[in-house]
Amino acid sequence: MRKPIIAGNWKLNKTNPEAVELITQIRRDLTDVSKVDVVVCPVFLALADAHDVLLETNIGLGAQNLYWEDSGAFTGEVSAPMLKAAGAQYVIIGHSERRQYFGETDQTVNKKIKAALKYDLTPIVCVGEVLAERESGKAFEVIKTQCQGGFAGITAAEMGRLVIAYEPVWAIGTGKTATPAQAQEVHQFIRKWLADTYGQDLAQTVRIQYGGSVKPENAKELMGQADIDGFLVGGASLKADSFAAIIKNSLSAA
Ligand code: PEP
Repeated sequence: MRKPIIAGNWKLNKTNPEAVELITQIRRDLTDVSKVDVVVCPVFLALADAHDVLLETNIGLGAQNLYWEDSGAFTGEVSAPMLKAAGAQYVIIGHSERRQYFGETDQTVNKKIKAALKYDLTPIVCVGEVLAERESGKAFEVIKTQCQGGFAGITAAEMGRLVIAYEPVWAIGTGKTATPAQAQEVHQFIRKWLADTYGQDLAQTVRIQYGGSVKPENAKELMGQADIDGFLVGGASLKADSFAAIIKNSLSAA
């Protein structure tokens, strides 16, 4: 049985005081989070403050990116050991916005996954097709290529420590959600790829989140799909009440 995992990707939002305020509200609104792993992912700068407010809660802390070298002449970057020292336990890797605006490729995703695992950070690895790829019937091919490239050289034991987020790019921040059937079809495809590559037993343990305009209204039905194990939430994670409602509604389906 896979424990659901629901993570809030705050993107480029919230100053440190605002991040502390939001986490304080989330703590207040979430009374029982024992049946689901809840994670918040603020900007790098707010990680340490967020960590302090999250102490004594079972809400996890994640970063939104990392660089694969530990240290050195890489101006503007942040490394896995630095994230670990700031209190992060998770890190989002290969988000479509990073692929689209910052030149991330399956090869850089692969290096970042390896760096995260080395420092015992749980990678939340994003895959997903753009609209033109879906419309031309290439969604599965794109996802397969992203998995093969991103997970190259990752062992079965390492794969067991990862979370995958399927995020159709056309559904991110657009208000357009994949239907539960569309999402399930791709989640099942990813799990089959995992089974073919790593074996059925391992495939059954890997958690696959859905991301793309998740809101309180659609969380329950999406979560009711056999291969959907939680969500990566953007916009709706920026308000404590909607984030908490997504978690509550998901639990009623799990
Ligand atoms: C995301 O950024 O990962 C995301 C899914 O955003 P939104 O929920 O706003 O579509």
